Amino acid sequence: MNTNFNNLNVDKNIVELLSKRGIKEPTEIQREAIPAILNGKDLIAQAATGSGKTFAFVIPVVQKLNKFSKTPQCLIVTPTRELAIQISQECDKINFEDKKIMLAYGGREIAGQIETLKNGVDIVIGTPGRLVDLIERKAIDLSKISSLILDEVDQILMMGFRNEIDKIIEVCNRRRQTLCFSATIDSTVKKIAYRITKEPMNIVIESKENKLAHINQHIIRTTDRRKLDTLSVLLNETNPFMGIIFCRTKIRVDSLEEELSSRGYSCQKLHSDIPQAKREKIMKAFKDVEFQFLVATDVAARGVDITGVTHIFNYDITEDVESYIHRIGRTGRAGEKGESYLFVTEKNENMLKDIENSIGFNIPEMEVEYVQGAMSTLELPKKKYNKKINARTKNIEEQKKRYRR
Ligand code: ADP
Ligand code: MG
Repeated sequence: MNTNFNNLNVDKNIVELLSKRGIKEPTEIQREAIPAILNGKDLIAQAATGSGKTFAFVIPVVQKLNKFSKTPQCLIVTPTRELAIQISQECDKINFEDKKIMLAYGGREIAGQIETLKNGVDIVIGTPGRLVDLIERKAIDLSKISSLILDEVDQILMMGFRNEIDKIIEVCNRRRQTLCFSATIDSTVKKIAYRITKEPMNIVIESKENKLAHINQHIIRTTDRRKLDTLSVLLNETNPFMGIIFCRTKIRVDSLEEELSSRGYSCQKLHSDIPQAKREKIMKAFKDVEFQFLVATDVAARGVDITGVTHIFNYDITEDVESYIHRIGRTGRAGEKGESYLFVTEKNENMLKDIENSIGFNIPEMEVEYVQGAMSTLELPKKKYNKKINARTKNIEEQKKRYRR
């Protein structure tokens, strides 16, 4: 059946705003989730990275806001500041009635956020730590919210945020609607999600083809000593339009970014110890294609949606399967194709097996020539070189052929 947003009972003002952005047909998760949310259902919803989960909850939630309310009507919780900002930008795109949307995350003066809340806010989008801070200062009243959304729910419920989330839920309206979204929801997460939802509807959108088929995955066997040189050669050979290079720790991000810069690569770094204003500047510059490679910790692994990220480099392997799926899911978004590379040393073999078991196939191995002290052979990006995107991606195919054996 040919479904459009009108058939899903989306407000015609929103349909029009979406259409102006070229968004005319709902994705599968949107087709399932939007009517359910409009009908007041609780949800536990799983759909692949890049499948449009944000609009799946943002559209109905914005549409359902009441005309006038002194206290927040909707709370969206995310694991990172970057994701909170991005979701607020998605809200802005369809905010046809000019509702008040507020960001609540750390690294910024809390006073301003308290003041904004006093003046009345409709939607709050925040990270767990700052939300708890606002609750403890009695600056935020969540007792009348009609919806609570946990994006990247497995990370929020399983890793590090449990205490904060418990505190937040404790002060939330009991008669709210609760919506949980992620690309990865296992039975443990589901069990916890059941506790915070009421008779939730379960949505699982299986990718039509092979899992992650739109992302061309490779592994590269290497050693700790050869890794940096191998990465340099690989960057030269692939010359991506934009790439994200993931490291295990902040310290490794710092040193890799320094090394790559000194070898002539256009890169910047992102991790949670970088001051907030700088983090935002870097994300904006990356979106504007002002540099080619973002070197990052897993702070950039979840949710971040940047058009033009064609290549993901897992310089260090992840500590769990979910993180790997989310990292590579930063490419191949909204029907596009992507490339991902995973560096594997001897001691990573077990983790690789876990990953391969989970995705259901063995990732093909690729050989990269070893050049000691390899330097960048890449042109430094000029600002706004978007027009080159096609030329560049075509090149990648050619270059890759030479290195596949
Ligand atoms: P997810 O949260 O599932 O990983 P996002 O919500 O970040 O995915 O969406 C990925 C990309 O797809 C975004 O750039 C978004 O603007 C785009 N997108 C969302 N819905 C549609 C749609 N119905 N048609 C085309 N593009 C869409
Ligand atoms: Mg998302």
